[in-house]
Amino acid sequence: MNISMEAPTTLSFDSTESQDMIAKMCRDFTAKEIKPKMMDWDESQEFPVEVFHKMGALGLMGILVPEEYGGAGLGYGEYITAIEEISKVDGSIGLSLAAHNSLCTNHILTFASEEQKRKYLPKLASGEWIGAWGLTEPNTGSDAGNMRTVAVKDGDYYVINGAKNFITHGKSGNVAVVIVRTGEVGDSHGMTSFIIEKGHPGFTSGKKENKLGMRASETAELIFSDCRVHKSQMMGKEGDGFVQSLKILDGGRISIAALSLGIAQGAYEAALEYSKVRQQFNQAISKFQGISFKLADMATKIEAARLLTFRAGDLKNKGKSVNKESAMAKLYASEVAVDVANEGVQIFGGYGFTKDFPAEKYYRDAKLCTIGEGTSEIQKLVISRCLLK
Ligand SMILES: Cc1cc2nc3c(=O)[nH]c(=O)nc-3n(C[C@H](O)[C@H](O)[C@H](O)COP(=O)(O)OP(=O)(O)OC[C@H]3O[C@@H](n4cnc5c(N)ncnc54)[C@H](O)[C@@H]3O)c2cc1C
Repeated sequence: MNISMEAPTTLSFDSTESQDMIAKMCRDFTAKEIKPKMMDWDESQEFPVEVFHKMGALGLMGILVPEEYGGAGLGYGEYITAIEEISKVDGSIGLSLAAHNSLCTNHILTFASEEQKRKYLPKLASGEWIGAWGLTEPNTGSDAGNMRTVAVKDGDYYVINGAKNFITHGKSGNVAVVIVRTGEVGDSHGMTSFIIEKGHPGFTSGKKENKLGMRASETAELIFSDCRVHKSQMMGKEGDGFVQSLKILDGGRISIAALSLGIAQGAYEAALEYSKVRQQFNQAISKFQGISFKLADMATKIEAARLLTFRAGDLKNKGKSVNKESAMAKLYASEVAVDVANEGVQIFGGYGFTKDFPAEKYYRDAKLCTIGEGTSEIQKLVISRCLLK
């Protein structure tokens, strides 16, 4: 083979026209609808439902949902871009947007029957309804396969008893996808997923968490007390639920990587601007190598996180397995978000410790990224299992 006769390979890292359009739309939206109110929501822990209805009107609540079910019919490039742009301003709204799209809505899109899809997706994709997704329980987080919430078959019904905790939109969600035990403890095929609507008898919400960060994203308990659910609300077959969840988390982790990327980018941009105007020793602090090297590290790590995130998104668009790649993107981007937000506070000095500047909020919000949808330790477990198989 003569290497010089090969056509040059195109390596494109440019954003597409539709990504650029989504980014601009999200920037306009955050400037008008989120930025002016986000610190009030953060202070009062208000989940601003109306913002999600408005994002629905823009197509952001059903980004990955095909147009025939009322969605925007876009791919992971646009999805990552939207989550990043929203999270650059407010991680809470980014987290809720990611949970709605990637968990509840995508579980229904991927595993529901045609009838279920027609019933639920248009409402979720339009933002008329907000979705929740319940896997975690008080005693089983990383070890979700050991869940204790049970569904016992009774004719054409299943009777559910137990509780799920830390559920995003646990109170305000109009519909929840819940994964419950229908078989033996420890059997990965002993769990089943159901779609349950708010207000269904026996299904209520419990304690709302008072959180360090992501305070405008609602996190609450789901409680099931002799909750009778018809078998037509099951997704797939009995026993499929846990395996479905792992596949959903593979995609979800790309959205948490995008969320991390947004928080890191926001924290970096705020610190960069501040470093150019803050004067100490008669010069801008950006002139000190101690500060400029921090900025160089921050920017480089963000760029590396972005490449991993879009790489995972590209594979997902192509229908390939992203088990390892989404875990790598989530692991790296979330740790970068914490690191960059920490350095951001440092660059702001004492002002970074106050609520007059955005650095402290990025710092508080970033930490969730290394925990939600699988902790950093669990991502390492997923990655190492892929490497050693
Ligand atoms: C704001 C927020 C929103 C959330 N939203 C949702 C949601 O919408 N739906 C949902 O189902 N869940 C949700 N969660 C739950 C989240 O996914 C879990 O908190 C997470 O998976 C960790 O579980 P845990 O909190 O029980 O921690 P644990 O599993 O108890 O872990 C505690 C520590 O032990 C470590 N650890 C555990 N197992 C291992 C191991 N095998 N090897 C090494 N270290 C290990 C962990 O990494 C962690 O450091 C949310 C959580 C938060 C905080």
